[in-house]
Amino acid sequence: MAEYLASIYGTEKDKVNCSFYFKIGACRHGERCSRKHVKPTFSQTILIANMYRNPGHEPASGMSPDQLQEDFDLFYEDVFMELAKFGEVEEMCVCDNIGDHLVGNVYCQFRYEEDAGKAVDNLNNRFYAGRPLYAELSPVTDFREACCRQHEIAECNRGGFCNFMHLRHPTRNLRNELMDGQRASLREKKREERKRVDADRERDRDQSSDYRDREYVRE
Ligand SMILES: [Zn+2]
Ligand SMILES: [Zn+2]
Repeated sequence: MAEYLASIYGTEKDKVNCSFYFKIGACRHGERCSRKHVKPTFSQTILIANMYRNPGHEPASGMSPDQLQEDFDLFYEDVFMELAKFGEVEEMCVCDNIGDHLVGNVYCQFRYEEDAGKAVDNLNNRFYAGRPLYAELSPVTDFREACCRQHEIAECNRGGFCNFMHLRHPTRNLRNELMDGQRASLREKKREERKRVDADRERDRDQSSDYRDREYVRE
């Protein structure tokens, strides 16, 4: 029985735990959901709820698709750079859904759980574009499972109100630049770390030879 329950955990067959919360980190019923939303204590993934505001969703924006993409790229870069300060970012996803529980959600998967924890603590004391941020650890582990397949292939017939993620993607060049930039700065950090360790070792060696010299003199 326990094995069966483990095998259906977080799936549609699970009558106790909410499969939407488990897979997507957000469910349209929110706190009132009849199934359980089990918040993780540790996770590599964080959710910053409703952070991105797509000006294209406002009828009077009058922006062209190129301008909207440019606006989104600026947002993506800005947030990525900020998140990368907490630790290595493996993936950052932004939802373009319009339902309340998914609109503008930013998910970030870090390489290390402790960096995700640091990010959540810090972001909850911050503002972005004049609004306070709300961040939490998220149970999402696999964005492929969380994304709407129909939307990825063509058009989803549920539109923006779909309960799976409809992601907005940054231009490929920007994504590559951010990832390359992160790799380069991590390499640089490692190099400096090694230099520091070498310098410490050098100092220890000098001190111990000093000590030996003194011992020798005393004899
Ligand atoms: Zn739910
Ligand atoms: Zn969809």
